[in-house]
Amino acid sequence: MPESTAQKVGESTPVPLLNLKGQYATIRDEIGVAIQRVLDSQVFILGPEVDALEAEIAAYSHCAHGIGVSSGTDALLVALMAIDIKPGDEVITTPFTAIPTVSAIVRAGATPRFVDIDSRTLLMRVDLIEAAVGPRTKAIMPVHIFGAVVPMSDVLEIARSRGLAVIEDAAQAHGSSSRGRRAGTFGDLGCFSFYPTKNLGGYGDGGMIVTDNPARAAELRRRRNYGKTHADYSVSDGVNTRLDELQAAMLSVKLPHLDEMNARRAAAAVRYRDGLAGTPIEFLEVPDGCVSNHHVLTVRVPERRDALRAHLESAGVQSTVFYPVPLYDQEAFRRFRAPGGEPCPETARACRQVLSIPLFPEMHTSDIDRVVAAIREFFHAGRRA
Ligand SMILES: *Cc1c(COP(=O)(O)O)cnc(C)c1O
Repeated sequence: MPESTAQKVGESTPVPLLNLKGQYATIRDEIGVAIQRVLDSQVFILGPEVDALEAEIAAYSHCAHGIGVSSGTDALLVALMAIDIKPGDEVITTPFTAIPTVSAIVRAGATPRFVDIDSRTLLMRVDLIEAAVGPRTKAIMPVHIFGAVVPMSDVLEIARSRGLAVIEDAAQAHGSSSRGRRAGTFGDLGCFSFYPTKNLGGYGDGGMIVTDNPARAAELRRRRNYGKTHADYSVSDGVNTRLDELQAAMLSVKLPHLDEMNARRAAAAVRYRDGLAGTPIEFLEVPDGCVSNHHVLTVRVPERRDALRAHLESAGVQSTVFYPVPLYDQEAFRRFRAPGGEPCPETARACRQVLSIPLFPEMHTSDIDRVVAAIREFFHAGRRA
């Protein structure tokens, strides 16, 4: 190794935003058994492993049906197809979310209508929904961002009085709950992602929709599989978006660990909160009665956010910004921006101030303390300057 790239003595390894290797190490053998079982069966699509995972996720969610699909984005897309979204229909959602929330709405032919977020929780402001409802509004898509659950009883009340469907984007909220009820089970349909970095992450792409409605469940099963009822009879538009047997088998190994992994995330979040007390860092709030799965630890840095990021990087601490731009300012979605000035000022402010710092179930407390020390050092140096 050339001198210049050799690690200096005493220099510690970087703290990553997320490290999946530690978790894999704890279940490596079980995962191996699951893979071998599927290979031995030579059944790869819509077989017993998908059936089993669908039943397990439904049971975990206290919900009647789970329908496996090939990603979280497709879960949203197929859910929109199942409520019969037509071109020109509008779906009310938040501009402070991952791109796929809105990609799915647009892909389904609908138009996103954005409402601003609450500055304390970064969740869509439910009191703004009513004013966004118009003659073309078909659905509301609340997003449980970073694991915090949108106050759903208020959303459902508006939806019922206006005859709208509710599709929850629960991709970041696996294991979160509100007043004892799981995220994803409040609305007509709840959509989950098994993207590797999600709290219940697979080893590739995958997703699931949950519902209590048997007719909707049957409809979703058709839509994910070319609109087919049974062998070579198709009754509606459909796509190919199936969860595969290998992913399902591996996810069945991980699901029993989900609550414990989420509890570890919560403990890490508490340590951060204690460690950063007295600094300008602001922690987000969760709505009353909500238990977050701590999908991502996002904090607010009221000023000099980017300088703090640079400082963390030089201290070997990874961080990122979820999300840097309101979605209506993304090139792909600019045509959906409401005319006039800044349509969602709290979203714009959040995009300038948020910072996501390392958090994962297997994170060592010494690494949390290193991140805390690096942040404290930044503000301390700032005071001296
Ligand atoms: C990850 C994510 C999705 C999409 O899930 P994929 O499985 O990556 O398609 C949708 N919405 C939100 C809020 C997400 O975080």
